[in-house]
Amino acid sequence: MKKHTLTLLILAAVVVGALSGVAFKGTVVIGVAVFAAEIFTRMLQMIIVPLVFTSIVSGMFGVGTAENLGRLGIKTLLYYACTTTLAITTGMILVNLIQPGVGVDLGLAVEAPEISTEPGGLLDVFRRMIPTNIIAAAAEGEMLPIIIFCVFFGIGIAQLPPSSSRETLENVITGAFHVMMRVTHIVFLFAPIGIWGYLAKIMAETGFSALVPLGRYALTVVLGLGIHACVTMPLILFFLARVNPLTFAKHMSASLLTAFSTASSSVALPLTLECIESNARVSNRISSFVIPLGATVNMDGTALYQGVAVLFIAQAYGIPMNFASQFTILITALLASVGTAAVPMAGLVMMSIILKAVGLPLEGVGLVLAVDRVLDMLRTMINVWGDSCGTLLIGKWEGEVGEWAEGVPTTARVSE
Ligand code: ASP
Repeated sequence: MKKHTLTLLILAAVVVGALSGVAFKGTVVIGVAVFAAEIFTRMLQMIIVPLVFTSIVSGMFGVGTAENLGRLGIKTLLYYACTTTLAITTGMILVNLIQPGVGVDLGLAVEAPEISTEPGGLLDVFRRMIPTNIIAAAAEGEMLPIIIFCVFFGIGIAQLPPSSSRETLENVITGAFHVMMRVTHIVFLFAPIGIWGYLAKIMAETGFSALVPLGRYALTVVLGLGIHACVTMPLILFFLARVNPLTFAKHMSASLLTAFSTASSSVALPLTLECIESNARVSNRISSFVIPLGATVNMDGTALYQGVAVLFIAQAYGIPMNFASQFTILITALLASVGTAAVPMAGLVMMSIILKAVGLPLEGVGLVLAVDRVLDMLRTMINVWGDSCGTLLIGKWEGEVGEWAEGVPTTARVSE
């Protein structure tokens, strides 16, 4: 109920923000709106470092302690990395073709920072991923090096022999992660005010013409998500798992719809497990490992959206992105989606990592905020769809998927 209230408030904020931006242009209301938008951005920035650290490290515990970590873990992670890369590539090709933000005057040109566009070497992309000083990286908000450190840190913990100190450490970090999820939730209660501020500010500066590129951007994301969900993944299912993608989608429908309406992969997780075991008949050994791992690290929809959103922001600011920058976006989107918590709008918070990595202003987030809630519902559904397809495929490879009954399976247990 509360979630729906927030969604409604956000939608109302978009409409009221747009209208008040036009109606109160040049008045003190716009000053208040700019301030509200700024406060909301600062709140998002405030939570990034602790959220990323606790989310990634606690996510790695599951990998480290699973019985079949070696073979199954590597297979799963490789599969997830490949499909997420495919998703980001789809989105980036589309945004380069459609160019939703090019030539658009969003009244932001003055704020665009000086960034160098000289062809940065690819080696430099990797060099900058390794922090020389992790505290300095955190203080500077350099997220990519932090993520790399978190991965090392998580692997380090996983290699400790079972002991009370390891257990304490895991409990503390997991506890801190739960706290950060709550903090994120609290911050998002301010989303309607922040979104109102952003919309009013943009509309006061540019009028209704601002909505056209926003619509084009949203359509680009939707198209990308559609291609990934309805073409790429079905082809993988059909050719590699030899199953009917449509039947499988029906098996998973309860979980997919829950993901859509709650915009949270973690809320949908219990249903995803139920659907994949009871309807798609993947063994518990496989699903109990691959699904929670996927809900934590595999976010095809989020990664695709982040790639499109960052390039849209670059286009709107009129900042050209060369090949090295686009490659950085791809790698960072892959990592940022791994670090995205499975809660509503977390992908938006993590997007600032990518913006930072390619030198784009963090305020760019404000450009895409207005349509984020709706896109969040769609990308969450694709995230869960990606996890489900991966689990089925790995289950098939391991020979642990039961025969499917003819026709549509019963979802009675699921919908209870
Ligand atoms: N809401 C998404 C999920 O739970 C994460 C995101 O914001 O992209 O999967």
